[in-house]
Amino acid sequence: MLGHRQALNELSQTDWDLVVIGGGITGAGILLEASRLGKKTLLLEQQDFAWGTSSRSSKMVHGGLRYLAQGDVGLTKHSLHERERLLVELPHMVVRFPYIFPIRQGSFPGRIAMTAVLTMYDKLAGVSDHRWISRDKLLQQYPILNDEGLKGAMRYTDALVDDARLVLRVLHEAVLEGGTANNYSQVNAIKSTSEGFNLTVQDTLTGNSVEFNAKQVVNATGAWADILSATNAKVRPQRGSHIFIPAAKLPIHDCLTVMHPDDNRPVFIYPWKGQTCIGTTDLDHRESVNVEPFCTSQEVDYLLKVANKQLPSVSLTRADIISTMAGVRPIIGSGTGNDTSKERRDHLVWTGSHGVVTVSGGKLTTFRLIALDVLHALSIINDKQLKNAQSNRKLRCFNHHVEDPCDLSSPLAQVPSNDQLKTQVEWILKNEMVQHLDDLMLRRIRAGNMMPNGGAEILAVIKPLCVQYLGWDESRWQQELARYQQMIARSYSVPA
Ligand SMILES: Cc1cc2nc3c(=O)[nH]c(=O)nc-3n(C[C@H](O)[C@H](O)[C@H](O)COP(=O)(O)OP(=O)(O)OC[C@H]3O[C@@H](n4cnc5c(N)ncnc54)[C@H](O)[C@@H]3O)c2cc1C
Repeated sequence: MLGHRQALNELSQTDWDLVVIGGGITGAGILLEASRLGKKTLLLEQQDFAWGTSSRSSKMVHGGLRYLAQGDVGLTKHSLHERERLLVELPHMVVRFPYIFPIRQGSFPGRIAMTAVLTMYDKLAGVSDHRWISRDKLLQQYPILNDEGLKGAMRYTDALVDDARLVLRVLHEAVLEGGTANNYSQVNAIKSTSEGFNLTVQDTLTGNSVEFNAKQVVNATGAWADILSATNAKVRPQRGSHIFIPAAKLPIHDCLTVMHPDDNRPVFIYPWKGQTCIGTTDLDHRESVNVEPFCTSQEVDYLLKVANKQLPSVSLTRADIISTMAGVRPIIGSGTGNDTSKERRDHLVWTGSHGVVTVSGGKLTTFRLIALDVLHALSIINDKQLKNAQSNRKLRCFNHHVEDPCDLSSPLAQVPSNDQLKTQVEWILKNEMVQHLDDLMLRRIRAGNMMPNGGAEILAVIKPLCVQYLGWDESRWQQELARYQQMIARSYSVPA
């Protein structure tokens, strides 16, 4: 288990076989696979684990129907195999879920095209899960659906997850396999030496810098990858935003996939942790990646527009929105200036002039495969081992039991009662390296997104637990509260 954060001075005493920079899903997956192979591996994250894109995704473990429709059979097939593996290995955390794709007169794709794509999708996954729903049945299920030109819908399945909790689950597994991970540890410089690499690492809680030695280093910093890669820039940062609506206002029980009236892009409307989520947008992100992203006013309008077009009787307004969430996709740019949603979602592994291997791009779903590619690039595994690990569908990724108090990690869990919440938070504070109130509220229990005002109503339950388990006094609590409230106002609220 992750346990408590260690002082950087202590960690720097070890000569590490491998240092992984970046504590999102990609870094966590590499830490797990390398540790499993007996490599003395340390992961360093500049903020909190999953603080980057890996807590801000659409939370789908999926093959990506869109990628198959774009002809990316390989990416879809690998993602589907990983989906099926995760469904078996983490059944409480990765949940198979019905997706409903309404089809209207004259719209594309129609029933024939969707049936063809879904037949292949299911075949690649090794399941048989799609079927047609008639117009009458669909309207019985969703009387709020716009019935204009409605012919029926294709139903298929994919899976939902709590992305940040998946990262934590992978980190727990990695630590149980002998790995080490530290948050609030920023790598600021990398030098190659005769024995490997020397890293300058700053403790972002104290400001102190410490030197580390490692035989090998991986830069798994996603949207930040170009900063440390020592090559020409390869990442095209793209922002995707979501809005959360109370389930009572927008009661959706499946993942509705609807086409946006402005640009015919698919947008998902689905239940998540007791509320309803709508997303995503897809735009070039021109702001600094070092500033926490936020959903803009135009993105809110774009998402409300598709919901109101498809579900007009609900009449959603900005006043209905509980919270917003924006993330930056680390897309490997084609350099063609393509429409953002048409860029490929594959990952890329490359080596910089200092000899450090960098990885960026890819998906939450394929973290295990990305990790294997990185270990291959580092020559930790050979071609044969890579092929076997990629294609052996019986190979397990998770072998250890990790507690999940009161359904903490289920993507479909309802907002917990105060007693359940207390049990969850006590367990988290003992086991998951919380340093700030926002670590707990935004990435461990997700209350910052799922409850109005960033979950202000549960702070009375949270405060005594932080005092007891983290040793915070009144002044520290007030500092943490102010920091958290600023963050909620800036990056998780409805913009003016
Ligand atoms: C809107 C949106 C929706 C998406 N939906 C899905 C989906 O439904 N399913 C799916 O499979 N994928 C989805 N994705 C893609 C997926 O979320 C990303 O591919 C994945 O999370 C990237 O993980 P990562 O670890 O590479 O990057 P990150 O999660 O961003 O992790 C990189 C980490 O590196 C850290 N870092 C940066 N610089 C340093 C440094 N100098 N020292 C130490 N640490 C550093 C950062 O703080 C960050 O935490 C979506 C992405 C977006 C944006």
